[in-house]
Amino acid sequence: MIIVMKRGVEPAAIESVVRRVGELGHRVHLSRGEARTIIGLIGADEYKLDYRSFEILDGVDKIMRVMSPYQLASRDFADGDTIISIPTSAASLASGKKSRKEVAASIEIGGNKIIVCAGPSTIESREQIIETAHAVKSAGATLLRGSPFTPRRSPYAFEGLGEDALKYLAEAREQTGLAIIAEVMSVAELDLLSSYVDILQVGARNNQNYPLLKAVGNQSKPVLLKRGVNSTIEEVLLAAEHVLVGGNKNVILCERGISTYEIATRYTFDVNAIPLLQEMTHLPVMADPSRGAGRATLVPPIAKAAVAAGASALMLDVHPDPERALINGSQSLNFKQFEQVMRELKQVASAVGREI
Ligand code: PEP
Ligand code: MN
Repeated sequence: MIIVMKRGVEPAAIESVVRRVGELGHRVHLSRGEARTIIGLIGADEYKLDYRSFEILDGVDKIMRVMSPYQLASRDFADGDTIISIPTSAASLASGKKSRKEVAASIEIGGNKIIVCAGPSTIESREQIIETAHAVKSAGATLLRGSPFTPRRSPYAFEGLGEDALKYLAEAREQTGLAIIAEVMSVAELDLLSSYVDILQVGARNNQNYPLLKAVGNQSKPVLLKRGVNSTIEEVLLAAEHVLVGGNKNVILCERGISTYEIATRYTFDVNAIPLLQEMTHLPVMADPSRGAGRATLVPPIAKAAVAAGASALMLDVHPDPERALINGSQSLNFKQFEQVMRELKQVASAVGREI
């Protein structure tokens, strides 16, 4: 952190700032220019300081941060990319011939292979999720999504089937070997969700739910952390830091569109976020063009853009009959459309030296 003093301040003001820095356990590097004095802080943990509290000290003009406020999420503190292995639960092994090791090794997020997560927005029936699981698996998906509890704007809207949906999702894993992911909306549901799923999703609305972020950080299941609709990139990384600091290193970030002034699409899918996050963090980045675009016709081109931009994984809403979906039918692909986009994505992936 660098503290820039106002022009021509009294030496007493400078001394007082230096003293305050010392009280906080940091050494200073003083640089006295002709008009201004600049106070540099020396100390490895400046990111723990409330830098804004220096702004109100007498004679201080401005503060410049040097270190990022997140450490564990930052590339500066990691060697290479984090690759997350998804150990699928024993249930998925019961029906298959693969050993636990083979199954675990087959799903890695963050490497050269792009992982596709697909399934309905919300689980509407046992048949719906089982049928979708088989369809997305044969088209090349390795993760199955489907919300058991789904956040809705209106309390009168369909909110999911709850634990029954988790049972159907687990049965779909059993039949297909797909790993399963579902959203945990509150700390109270965490034990229930983690007793079923392979990856816990923290939704956009909970990107700043610090008790929930801490709770998923204090357990070992991998976490998919969605960007909040109003979250800056720094806020996303700080949200990830809340999970990482608890000891859970298995965090996947997800760009899912943000709120802007544009209302022609449901959200504005921020393609910039994908390569930018990859410059800033070692954590893998998933893209969710279904929510980002909110309209099925836009999903294939935006999915391709995300792959070209370097996404490690995609999340795509797939429904057996989008016209009859109880929720988010307008952003869902049917099975044929999903197969088609998977074929096209393979070409884009290979053009940028990736596999899908
Ligand atoms: C979802 O994936 O089901 C979901 C609700 O996503 P988001 O939190 O990004 O809106
Ligand atoms: Mn949603």
